[in-house]
Amino acid sequence: MYPESIKNLIESFKYLPGIGEKTAERLAFSILDLDEEQVEFFSESLCDVSKNVHKCSICNTLTDSDLCFVCSNELRNHDLLCVVEDSKSVFLFEKLGMYNGEYHVLDGLISPLDGVNPEDIGLSMLLDRINKNKYKEVIFAFKSSIEGETTSLYIKKVLDGLNIKFTRLASGVPIGADMEYIDSLTLERALSDRKIIE
Ligand code: ZN
Repeated sequence: MYPESIKNLIESFKYLPGIGEKTAERLAFSILDLDEEQVEFFSESLCDVSKNVHKCSICNTLTDSDLCFVCSNELRNHDLLCVVEDSKSVFLFEKLGMYNGEYHVLDGLISPLDGVNPEDIGLSMLLDRINKNKYKEVIFAFKSSIEGETTSLYIKKVLDGLNIKFTRLASGVPIGADMEYIDSLTLERALSDRKIIE
């Protein structure tokens, strides 16, 4: 019943997570209310993101330049490495503005039940980096979950013998909560009260 162009737009919105038929229809029709300039900006941004955003060759964070904004910043504290489970966590910590070290983004967390093994989360890149740099502390900043625990303990075990302090966020992070839903005060406390992993 819809003209082909509207139908295609509705189908496109349905690619996005959490968007069903009704919402897709609503969004598609709201595009028709935008002025030409806004529509152009919108469509260019879509193509731009998909063409230009890639992972930083050092830390695996999403970036649209050669190196990400952290790796290209000489003034960061090179003694500290914060290991996170996705790029969103990097932006979250940066928004807090209380951490000045480096990051490393894994491709998820180890989860044997879901068939995700150590070789699936890009660990070799992280291990190479830790072996080559002289980090004093490696902070595991994952959400509190069995997967987060498994992943931190695995990495610590593999790097056993290096003179590095391994820490995790303090237990203020609610179990299973996604990092992005934790309020900034909780996260700030979790970071400043981080615990040494024995
Ligand atoms: Zn980087």
